[in-house]
Amino acid sequence: MEVISRVAELRDRIPARRSTSVGFVPTMGYLHRGHLRLMEIAKAQNDVVVASIFVNPTQFGANEDFSTYPRDMERDRSLLESAGVDWLFAPDSADMYREKSQTYVDVPGIGAVLEGGIRPVYFRGVATVVTKLLNIVQPDRAYFGEKDYQQVILVRRMVEDLFLPVEIVGVPTVRDEDGVALSSRNVYLSAEERAAARRLPQALQLARKLIHSREMNSKALEMALRTYIAEEPLAHIDVVAVRDADTLEETIELPRRALVLLFVRFGRAQLLDHAVVESERQSPATR
Ligand code: AMP
Repeated sequence: MEVISRVAELRDRIPARRSTSVGFVPTMGYLHRGHLRLMEIAKAQNDVVVASIFVNPTQFGANEDFSTYPRDMERDRSLLESAGVDWLFAPDSADMYREKSQTYVDVPGIGAVLEGGIRPVYFRGVATVVTKLLNIVQPDRAYFGEKDYQQVILVRRMVEDLFLPVEIVGVPTVRDEDGVALSSRNVYLSAEERAAARRLPQALQLARKLIHSREMNSKALEMALRTYIAEEPLAHIDVVAVRDADTLEETIELPRRALVLLFVRFGRAQLLDHAVVESERQSPATR
């Protein structure tokens, strides 16, 4: 595996590979099995796999964890090497955001709701850096974890709106044995907080049961899940939402494909989890 640290160098190399398919996996590093699953799928579907590690400053708010975000380039590098990744692109911020840079990509509808309502600059930063990375790497396919469900919806919207010539592939969430979704930020959790975080997959299990029993509309389901999560004293709820899984629209009636999205803090770790639950469309009770 070659490590390339300059935008210009990577751009020069890409045209030479056009007869082969290129798969791309953008990450912020501190890799775990979730990231490696993306690499594995990219490797199975493409001739060449490019991974990037870039902790993108523009998607962090002023009070967020940009400076303390976990980093371990040496470990990441050997994990990617073992995963058979061909190129690791690890640029620095000054190269990605040059001195005169002033252009941002904004997806104002999808980017402003749910997680975007709590983190106002987040999705603008994500849309901007993903556009830059796609333009630099020019992959045939790019791989995103469904763990960050809203991010996948937003990237798909952006790619369609801007006619970006890339296929977006979503990959299901990889979890620990106890159901907690793997995340680089899990390293922030104390032992008690890590145990408390099991409330999230348990809440999703409850949501599946309640949706299938069709006793509740979206709002009653949100209330029931909020109450259930709040029973865990270490959980600080930012978002508990039931939405249409395709459009993220809010509806009183349960949508046929319901997204249950949880954004909950445990200590200093902001954890995300979600489930998409399909049900027959039958008029649910309106209580
Ligand atoms: P990050 O480094 O957190 O920006 O994540 C890089 C990519 O890996 C994103 O597309 C994430 O959605 C994906 N990812 C992170 N955690 C998981 C997981 N537990 N399962 C599947 N994909 C994941």
